[in-house]
Amino acid sequence: HEPVCECNSCYSGLDCSNFSTDCVANAMSGDPYFLEPFWMKHAASSAVLVSGWHRMGYTYSDGSYISELLVKYIQKLHDTVGNAVTEGKYIIFGGGSTQLLSAAVYALSPNTAVSPAKVVATAPYYPMYRIQTQFFNSRDFSYEGDTTLWKNISVNDTTRFIEFATSPNNPEGKLTKALLNGSNVKTIYDHAYYWPHFTPIPSPSDEDLMVFTISKLTGHAGTRFGWAIIKDEEVYLKMLTYVQLNTMGISREAQLRALKLLDVVLEREGREIFEFGYKIMRDRWMRLKKVLSKSTRFSLQKLSPQYCSFFKRVRDPSPAYAWVKCERQEDNNCYEILEAASINGAEGIAFSADNRYVRLSLIRSQDDFEILINKLRILVSKE
Ligand code: PMP
Repeated sequence: HEPVCECNSCYSGLDCSNFSTDCVANAMSGDPYFLEPFWMKHAASSAVLVSGWHRMGYTYSDGSYISELLVKYIQKLHDTVGNAVTEGKYIIFGGGSTQLLSAAVYALSPNTAVSPAKVVATAPYYPMYRIQTQFFNSRDFSYEGDTTLWKNISVNDTTRFIEFATSPNNPEGKLTKALLNGSNVKTIYDHAYYWPHFTPIPSPSDEDLMVFTISKLTGHAGTRFGWAIIKDEEVYLKMLTYVQLNTMGISREAQLRALKLLDVVLEREGREIFEFGYKIMRDRWMRLKKVLSKSTRFSLQKLSPQYCSFFKRVRDPSPAYAWVKCERQEDNNCYEILEAASINGAEGIAFSADNRYVRLSLIRSQDDFEILINKLRILVSKE
């Protein structure tokens, strides 16, 4: 059957082409619906059917907590894309990468409550690092604000620092490196967006602890499946303990779905999905840049073309989010300015940045993007 399309709230008419102005552009959440058309095209080969009687037991009972085949697929995926070195490293699964972020903080903290680890990140940063660290409120670690506060302090060897480095960064899409270094510093590299849809891949990441997720790779955020690649056995075992005690492993159905999806991703060496994803994201970025180039009131983050070892050429930026700045002195709450123009973004303060900034999601459906660009066009034309 042909999928039945319903018009988005901003459109009406038989072919959904009549645009109405009294609706709100949803540019807040990071649901990666831009990949939905890809999976519609591959509906049959990506489908999963599980019989009621199939594999009912706990994953620890038959030692299948981590599917070996899925580990092999993940290794092959990273070799194919060239975005991470997996050789000689351990791989662990998590309920989304979200579970692995807190597992990593636990595993990298010293288990002596005498000197809790200081957890830091560099603004603007993904809010979950701070929120989770504070929520899980342990004697072993505490959230200690922005990395830049600690950059010039000579840290003595007894204080463990755990730095979150997000590359490419959420919100503004730049490839980043950890700021702190020293034997007392451990870094968690969050590579949720280190895929050719969103960024050039200059070289494979070879860090001690790297976290990935299918949420932004295939777009299946609701499956809740992520993985970490870990160099150190001790850290790996501690993370394993965390996941076992927290959820007794990862749902078999999530692992099975991930396996099926990666099977399709790996067809033709990943060419199809990454070319598809990159083309959409580049197109959206270019159109957004064009609209905002006519504005003196709003500006966008600056990103440059860069060599990508996956596409084997210099390629344009194609970030997941726009990091918009309100330039006028009086526009010190950019979120409200955009909200008044029926554009719903995410406030700068959520990323520990100034409220002159707003993050706009570019990874939602084509309809969502068209609505957003229309609203922006209208706003800019009023300047
Ligand atoms: N890290 C970053 C930087 C993210 O933006 C997100 C999702 N928005 C996550 C991690 C969490 O992803 P997951 O769905 O794998 O839990």
